[in-house]
Amino acid sequence: MRPLNKGNTPTDATGNVIAPTDYKNWRKALIERIGYYCVYCNQPLSHSLQVEHVVPKNPPPGYTAGDPIAWSNMLLACGPCNNAKSNNPVDANIYYLPEEHNTHLPFSIVLSINPDHAIVAAKAVPDVLAAQQQKAEDTIDLLELDNIDERPAIVDIRSLKRKAAMLSVQSARQVYDMAVASPTYNANVVATDIARRAADSGFFSLWYEEFMNEPLVMERLTDNTIIQGTATNCFDPANGYKPIPRNPANIADPI
Ligand SMILES: [Zn+2]
Repeated sequence: MRPLNKGNTPTDATGNVIAPTDYKNWRKALIERIGYYCVYCNQPLSHSLQVEHVVPKNPPPGYTAGDPIAWSNMLLACGPCNNAKSNNPVDANIYYLPEEHNTHLPFSIVLSINPDHAIVAAKAVPDVLAAQQQKAEDTIDLLELDNIDERPAIVDIRSLKRKAAMLSVQSARQVYDMAVASPTYNANVVATDIARRAADSGFFSLWYEEFMNEPLVMERLTDNTIIQGTATNCFDPANGYKPIPRNPANIADPI
């Protein structure tokens, strides 16, 4: 999953902090901040783009309610992620969250048993510690990121769109390799083109994985002028923009 910047509260033309009376009115500012993607599964959203409360406004008894309207508690989500998350308590100590962690690091996107679908899986030990793997699995459970909806009246199309993104990445790689070998190869043009394809495709982890060893492509994939909102502090410009932990002071779990 793509790690996100923490956004500043939007201001109007005169610099005053905007304070809508309906949380849904944050939608435009959220799109400007993070694009039209679900922050959890990273699918691109064309409609039914839901303003979601990170910490639920109606949590179960015993848990602190999130602010019902504050900018700092709002993100964009697709219906299936928002519905799965529902009013479950949310805690950055229990789950990997896109504004708190480098959410690229603990997850993989893999084909399911049915190869028409791709699902999210926790990275395997030893790539991550056992506790990190458990936290990733709990996050997958929270958001049902491994769900395959086989009902005739399918609603959750995340697994199908993930598979389509996999195919887009594969063909982008083929075109990239041909371009590099071409006498008219222009590295800037090609790298920017890949980032724009990624912007259309979403599911950014697939693109990071495929182009991990191509620094210029990684630079463009994490460039906020092409795909806005990505937490650039989760990628190391001194090392080819490879993903790095976001919480290095946390020895137990720097992710
Ligand atoms: Zn989603």
